[in-house]
Amino acid sequence: MKRNEFSSHVLKWFDQHGRHDLPWQQNPTPYRVWVSEIMLQQTQVSTVIAYYLRFMQTFPTLKKLALANEDAVLDHWTGLGYYARARNLHKAAKIILEKHRGEFPETVDELIELPGIGRSTAGAIISLSKNLRAPILDGNVKRVFARLIALDQPTTEKTAQTILWNLAEELMPKERFNAYNQALMDLGATLCTRSKPACAACPVQQFCAAYQHNAVEGYPVKKAKPTKPEKSVFMLLLENAQGEIFLQKRPPTGIWGGLWSLPEIDDEKSLAQTCRQKYALKIINTKKLNPIKHVFSHFVLHIQPIRAQTKPLSARVSETDSQIWYNKRQSPPGGFAAPVLKLIKDYDNDATR
Ligand code: SF4
Repeated sequence: MKRNEFSSHVLKWFDQHGRHDLPWQQNPTPYRVWVSEIMLQQTQVSTVIAYYLRFMQTFPTLKKLALANEDAVLDHWTGLGYYARARNLHKAAKIILEKHRGEFPETVDELIELPGIGRSTAGAIISLSKNLRAPILDGNVKRVFARLIALDQPTTEKTAQTILWNLAEELMPKERFNAYNQALMDLGATLCTRSKPACAACPVQQFCAAYQHNAVEGYPVKKAKPTKPEKSVFMLLLENAQGEIFLQKRPPTGIWGGLWSLPEIDDEKSLAQTCRQKYALKIINTKKLNPIKHVFSHFVLHIQPIRAQTKPLSARVSETDSQIWYNKRQSPPGGFAAPVLKLIKDYDNDATR
């Protein structure tokens, strides 16, 4: 991909279709561009505009912002979210006033020393306000570039960052840095969107590897989610001669705390012994029902239900506050965890077959 060709396609598109009338594009001083860039992090242009205008009315200069109290600054941020952005903006304004005598730094290296300003924001500030040569790589631009070269790793990887920054440097034109960076942002926000990008209208589709391979949906490559640990358990549907099933109430804390559940064993071989010793029940016969899987936030539980007909070893297994024989025709004794409810229903279907 030739640098000149790429950037000239981007710039030509920007001249015709880019956004030229955003409030921060009028009189684009470093201060005004900076405030807009911070507000635009994690927030869409359409939401930012009203906040930006109000903020600029109250804090038209860096000095006004630096001398304001934090509550007033936060008040102007209410509803925008991510309040650390506002606190950092305020802190950075004070630093510029005190350490740089109110003069906005003009190099990326100086800017990234300030709270809340990363390399891409620094690049945007000096390119958009001063037309200086500095690449940007915000979330939208990362997505465009990742598709452009069909990057085979998530953009969050360290090596991916290096590849993308090198590409951002490489593709910069020799002039019109402000228009080019704004164009990239616009391209990412309006055409090369996260889902259903408008490739048919894209000025760089001929350079785009993902498009050429008909694989746009696959980029940027997603980060693999860490797999959750898996556990297995046998849940017992112990049935008496009256067709009732044995329920236990779980302890008040922990998983399914205070809900009614079924007896559990870890090892199928211990079934008869556990029933004899813990519940004074003799197993007459058993049947495995369909297993189910339940996904918790931190692990996956595989449940193998076992239906077992039982006989009491003593006169009747005593019921307590935390263990009962449950007759399905009666109302439930309390809450059931979702998978337990499903198991009881499945059991019911199996029993009536
Ligand atoms: Fe994005 Fe499609 Fe353009 Fe490639 S062709 S840069 S995927 S909009």
